[in-house]
Amino acid sequence: MSDDPTIFEQIVAGDIPARIVYETDTVAAFLDANPLAPGHTLVVPKEPHERLEDIPDDEAAAVWAAVQELVPQIAAAVDADATTVGVNDGEAAGQEVPHAHVHIVPRFEGDGGGPIHAAAGDRPDLSEDELDGIAADISGE
Ligand code: 5GP
Repeated sequence: MSDDPTIFEQIVAGDIPARIVYETDTVAAFLDANPLAPGHTLVVPKEPHERLEDIPDDEAAAVWAAVQELVPQIAAAVDADATTVGVNDGEAAGQEVPHAHVHIVPRFEGDGGGPIHAAAGDRPDLSEDELDGIAADISGE
C-alpha cells in the first residue's frame, strides 16, 4: 500500500475541494465527484483504513450512524424514491480508492438501474452440501 495520502484523506484535510455534507471528529461525507445520481454521497472514516475489516469498531459504528442519518436527508434533498447503499470492498469488487467508503446512491422510479444483486457476476449453482460447507466456514462451526 502506498504511503501517499489517499484522495479522501486529502479531501478530509481540506487539500482537495469537495462538497462536504457531514463531518464529525471521525467521519466525513461529501458528494461524489462523478455521481451515479443527484445526491450520490461518499461516507468515509477520516483515518485512511483501506478495507472494511481494517476499520476499528468505534469508527465503523460512527460511519454507519452517519449513513443512517444521511440517507433520509439526501433522499429528501433530491426527492428520491429509494436509496442504494453499498461498499466496493477490495479491488475485485471495484474499489478504486484505497480508503474505505460507503456509497449512498439515491434511486428514482424508472432510473434504469438495478438492485445490488446486479453488482455480482454469474450466479453459482451450489449444492446443499456446498452451501452447508460455506456456512460452516463463515461461522467457524
Ligand atoms: P470506488 O470505486 O473506490 O468504490 O469509488 C470511488 C468513488 O470516488 C467514485 O465514485 C469516484 O467518482 C469518487 N471520486 C474519485 N475521486 C474523487 C474526488 O477527488 N472527489 C470526490 N468527491 N469523489 C471522487
